[in-house]
Amino acid sequence: MTALEGARERRVHTGGIDLCVLELGDPSAPTVVLVHGYPDSKEVWSEVATRLAGRFHVVLYDVRGHGRSTAPKPLRGGFTLAKLTDDFLAVVDAVSPDRPVHLVGHDWGSVQSWEFVTVGRTEGRVASFTSMSGPSLDHFGHWIDARVKRPTPRRVGQLLGQGAKSWYVYLLHTPVVPELAWRGPLGRSWPGILRRAEGLPTDDYPTASLRSDAAHGAWLYRDNVRPRLRRPREDAYAHAPVQLITPLGDAFLSERLYDDLEHWVPRLTLRTLPDKHWIPRTRPDQVSAWIEEFVLAVESGQDAQPPRADRHAQRFGGQLVLVTGAGSGIGRATAFAFAEAGARVVAVDRDGEAAARTAELARLTGAADAWAETADVSDEQAMEKLAEKVHGAYGVVDVLVNNAGIGLSGSFFTTTPEDWRRVLDVNLWGVIHGCRLFGARMAERGQGGHIVNVASAAAYQPSRALPAYSTSKAAVLMLSECLRAELADRRIGVSAVCPGFVNTNITSTARFTGVDEQEQRRRRQRSARLYGMRNYPPEKVASAILDAVERNRAVVPVTPEARGMRALSRLVPGMSRRLAKVEPKV
Ligand code: NAD
Repeated sequence: MTALEGARERRVHTGGIDLCVLELGDPSAPTVVLVHGYPDSKEVWSEVATRLAGRFHVVLYDVRGHGRSTAPKPLRGGFTLAKLTDDFLAVVDAVSPDRPVHLVGHDWGSVQSWEFVTVGRTEGRVASFTSMSGPSLDHFGHWIDARVKRPTPRRVGQLLGQGAKSWYVYLLHTPVVPELAWRGPLGRSWPGILRRAEGLPTDDYPTASLRSDAAHGAWLYRDNVRPRLRRPREDAYAHAPVQLITPLGDAFLSERLYDDLEHWVPRLTLRTLPDKHWIPRTRPDQVSAWIEEFVLAVESGQDAQPPRADRHAQRFGGQLVLVTGAGSGIGRATAFAFAEAGARVVAVDRDGEAAARTAELARLTGAADAWAETADVSDEQAMEKLAEKVHGAYGVVDVLVNNAGIGLSGSFFTTTPEDWRRVLDVNLWGVIHGCRLFGARMAERGQGGHIVNVASAAAYQPSRALPAYSTSKAAVLMLSECLRAELADRRIGVSAVCPGFVNTNITSTARFTGVDEQEQRRRRQRSARLYGMRNYPPEKVASAILDAVERNRAVVPVTPEARGMRALSRLVPGMSRRLAKVEPKV
């Protein structure tokens, strides 16, 4: 049974064709209209539609010539944006005659929805628009124009970048060849291509109509792309608030395309996702959560445009982020940074009070929600309990930051087995427990996610003073690389973040081996002073962590010395080894 079975079906007759329209949910609730792209049919939305149906009146339709809607005759000239707008108006007149609808478009569904939200005759019929992976052809035309008329090296680079991503658009303009390809070999291999290249679950999708959808849909390009790009409309301003969701790994569209969007959209909300093109299939939880949040904000009149500097303020909106060691230093700063970016945050620390304080401040910083949990990451049972509680109470984690760690300094022969156990238990086993317990559920859910393991520059820069600490961090780095390889095809990114010297509390809690208590205190104070003088703030590490998640970076040295040591270890390892012999003065 497909997810859409049980939906109410109606046919809408307009302009000589019949559109197949499905409805789910309570018709008295706000209406959300989902418009599919190319080469798709309404079923591309099945996962999102069922998630939204509990709260909204959800409407999906097959675009003319696709799925179970009929095709115009002749095809040429039958797919212009003006005709697609007629179809949209006919559908909304039928399903929501008295109330404007919330429009959501993906790919070509988004391209045409940009027309719906910028032409005069739909004014008052669209309450909001959520756009994914499909720009306005008018905005695109002006974007190209600006780069051709006022070229700078950067702008030319952007133009060439997008030009290369648009190879298929040129092909679709050739006569007959696309139709033959889709009805022949391409149609046969398309589900496999989607699975391999896009990581798409393809059990009930694409549907049996794929070949004719793709053949008919070629006219979407032929009827519109060239004329609009040559003569883009001057007045293509959005008359409703717009939420733009940009998957950063989109093979077909560069995120730079949207650089000038604020000029066209007075009320704009921006979101990004580290994923590929088909996010309605690969990230239905996240996509539905963002649609729901946006629609409810617009319905309650709270979608005010954030100041320009905050354009990306909500970039982790609605995501569940768990940070260990969140009671201090890098962990606390990371929890705040995710909170500011709109995430729901779980702050975990063995120091319960410190975790509670972080959660409290995170709420004030802007977190959608924040909770504190007390757990020692080195304790397997405590971590199992934590995972059970988090999954039951807050849901599957979207971003896991294994940050908790302790410092240990002293030569190999002064480091006792107990010292080794403690540092490996926290720094390595803590990360293993986190990855195992939270990563497994992330993988099982099948909608991607990200794991950040906080290692250290000590992971690749050996030192005679830090044998145990460096070993624990090198293990974390290698674990992250291995896991990254294993989880890549589940679209779960893994990053190892490797800071240098960061001004946190770690210096006053780190253990120095082989010295008495008094000397221990003296060394702690001295290293705290040195780190204080270096004064690299944990907030900068936090910002690198958010960036690593967004860009799915593998290994991220933070601080100039960490980057320098990384370069040494790779390019001149001999130097790196000589540096390892230097005895630090403490
Ligand atoms: P910090 O001491 O300021 O914060 C560490 C937090 O982790 C504390 O709140 C502590 O209570 C918590 N914690 C420690 N052991 C725990 C355990 N077993 N279970 C749960 N919570 C625990 O230190 P920081 O500098 O913010 O360190 C964070 C991470 O960054 C560590 O993994 C550290 O090794 C790494 N790191 C720090 C630096 C630096 O210069 N500060 C450099 C490279 C890497």
